[in-house]
This record gives sequence, structure tokens and C-alpha cells, in this order.
Amino acid sequence: MNSYLESFSVDSRVISAAADVEKDIKPYFAEIEKKEAVNQAKVLAAFRNHKISAAHFNPTSGYGYDDLGRDTLDLVFAETFGTEAALVRPHFISGTHTLTVMLFAVLRPGDVLLSVTGDPYDTLTDVICGNEGGSLKEFGIGYDKVELKNDTFDLEGIEKALENEKVRAVFMTRSKGYAWRESFSCGEMEKAAAFIRNRRSDVLILVDNCYGEFVDTVEPSFADLFAGSLIKNPGGGLAPSGGYIAGKSDYVRLAADRLTAPGLGLEGGANFGVMKELFMGFFMAPHVVAQAVKCAVFCAALMEKLGFEVCPKPADARNDIIEAIRFGKPEYVIAFCKGLQSASPVDSFVTPEPWAMPGYQNEVIMAAGAFTQGSSIEISADGPIRPPYVAYMQGGLTYESGKLAVMCGASAVMNSI
Ligand SMILES: *Cc1c(COP(=O)(O)O)cnc(C)c1O
Repeated sequence: MNSYLESFSVDSRVISAAADVEKDIKPYFAEIEKKEAVNQAKVLAAFRNHKISAAHFNPTSGYGYDDLGRDTLDLVFAETFGTEAALVRPHFISGTHTLTVMLFAVLRPGDVLLSVTGDPYDTLTDVICGNEGGSLKEFGIGYDKVELKNDTFDLEGIEKALENEKVRAVFMTRSKGYAWRESFSCGEMEKAAAFIRNRRSDVLILVDNCYGEFVDTVEPSFADLFAGSLIKNPGGGLAPSGGYIAGKSDYVRLAADRLTAPGLGLEGGANFGVMKELFMGFFMAPHVVAQAVKCAVFCAALMEKLGFEVCPKPADARNDIIEAIRFGKPEYVIAFCKGLQSASPVDSFVTPEPWAMPGYQNEVIMAAGAFTQGSSIEISADGPIRPPYVAYMQGGLTYESGKLAVMCGASAVMNSI
């Protein structure tokens, strides 16, 4: 039975721990499947309501005016996410690019952006505070932040920061990113948003929704705008590239004007023949996200059993697909990433090394043996090389492949102790 594990050199301690924990986590899997069923029905209903057919998959070129597939995919995302409008485009090159467009869409010189979940994701530092390249700062847009207090919103601190009349937009990150804490539920964020709007009805609420889509049965539709990457959750592993911005129509239109050009907005943008993958990826996304969440729960239970601290714990409610493992030593982070890479379908023979990735503040190691370059809904693990030396595992297109990759990562760690 276990001979296939031998061919992957899985450590015997890992094999026996995995067998134990898989029994314990069954009830959590049932919960994940319930959410998957709700999300799948939501997506399917949107496909039915918009009468999706082969005509929506036709490629367009040039200006891309009257692109039926593109315009309808916007409507399908908006309906599924419960927003007035959405801008879904393969032209967004990454999550960072998508979030950048969201920020520049609504902020103007003299405004201040206030982040209320501590600093945003690492790659946004240059976008907000950089001294070159056309950052918000260079355009005269200020930045302020309120750190979390006991891992949640510091309402007193937020109230104080809102006294600055120049604050035009409040930014929240749903996911923990490279922090050691639980990610936010949409309910918690919505409560904080209500608190903020109660004090300042004129500020916009912007949410970084990366890694959050379909983990729960609600999305941050209370926000004026939220954004994410299509090579993460909502692309279902099939989208070759892209991002989305969803929210109130007026602001989505501003985001479209910023992505293309003022006045062109939502009207242009050839689809390069990727519509079938974008539609199919979104259709698959609830299932693929459920597979990824199962991989995260398995990883949590296995690594905890092997003696490492994990966040979230196996039984915890989840709001993104990330599992953080505190290794305490850089060698173990590197070993875990290398082991995981060795069980990836693509580039299994490649050895990941820490390097100074553009946009990140420390050296980062990334294991990513993905069909789509950098896709982290496929199995991946990464971590900045800084104390307390935490590896972040996410993804898994199928539970079985993700589980095997996690077991190989764990084996590499056990062998280096
Ligand atoms: C991945 C991610 C980003 C940035 O997306 P890239 O596609 O890597 O540029 C931003 N915020 C969060 C929370 C993310 O997980």
C-alpha cells in the first residue's frame, strides 16, 4: 500500500503521523465540503442567469470592443461575489498590479490611504511608499497605518487616525500574508467597516481579498472595492493570468479607466482567446479552493503532530488558503520548501534557493512547481528568510497531490533534524 510513498522517499515517521491525523481531520473536511457546495451553486447560478454559451469563449483582437465574453464574465463575477460590478481582466499581470490599479483608481493627490490591518502585503510597500517608479507617495498621496491590537482591529487607534480629514480610503488585508495570525473573516471586517463609516461616511473601504475567495461562503461585498489575483483562488488553477476588482459600479468604472485609459474604461481590451479558461477556472474555483483548504488542514495537523507550531490550527475556522508553520530555524524552512518542490508536477528536479525577489523586503524562498508560473493555488510554499522562520504553504489543485507534497516537505525537515 505504502510503496508509492517509498518511491517519494517519505520518512516513516511522516507516514505514520499522516495516517493518524487523516482520521482526526475528517470532520473538518465535511465542513469544507458544505461550503464548497454553497459556492459551487452560487457560481453555477450565475452561469445560468447569464446564459453562458460557446459564444462567450470566442477570442477577440485589437480594441476588443463589444467583447461578449469579457463583458459577461464581469457580470458573472459580480453576481457571484454579490457586488454591483466587477472588472475581470487577463491584462492584470499579478495581484500586486491589480491592487495597484485599485488604489490609483480612487486616490488623488492630497489624499491619505489608511491601512487598518498593519502594513499591507510586502509587494505593496514600493507601490505606496517607494521613492521612484510613480508610487502613491510620488503623486502626493500620503500613507498611515494602524497596527492590529491582539490580532484584531484596534478601533480606538482607527478612530484617532480617522481624525485626519485627508484620509480618503481605508485599506484592509483579509489574508494574514507573512504575519503570524489568523486571517480576517468577512464578518469581522464588515463590523470594522461599519465602525469606520459611522465615524467617516466619506471614506472608501478597500479590501485586499487575495487568497480569500471561496474559502467562506461570503466575500467582502461590504467594501467599496476589493481585488484579487486569478492565478490564486478565483482562477481555479486554469486562468493563465489576470486579476479582478469588484465592488460599487462607479469605482469599478474608475478602476477600468485606470487599467486602460480615462474614457476607455470597460469598453476595450482584447481577450487574446483566454475566455474559456477564465470561465472554466471560475467554475472550477469552489472545488479547487476546497482541495487547497483540505491540504492546509492536513498540513496543519501533520506538522503539529511532528512537533511544530502551526497557524491556523487544524480545528480553526479558515479565512484563506494559507497554512503557516513556525520552524524557528532557516534550514528547516529551506528543507520544507525543497521537499515540497520535489513532489511538484512541474520542475520537481529544481532546487529552490532563497533570493532577493523584486518587491519583497527580505530574501524569500519559494517552492512553486506549477503549470502556471507563480500560481499559488497550485501547491506552493514560501517564506521570507527572517525570524521566526515561518514557512507558508498554500494551494493544491488536488488533495492527493497536495498531501503528497506536504509529506515530502515534512520528510525533508525530519531528515535535516
Ligand atoms: C499574493 C498576494 C498579493 C500579491 O499578489 P501577487 O500576485 O503575488 O503580486 C497581495 N496580497 C496578498 C494578501 C497576497 O496573498
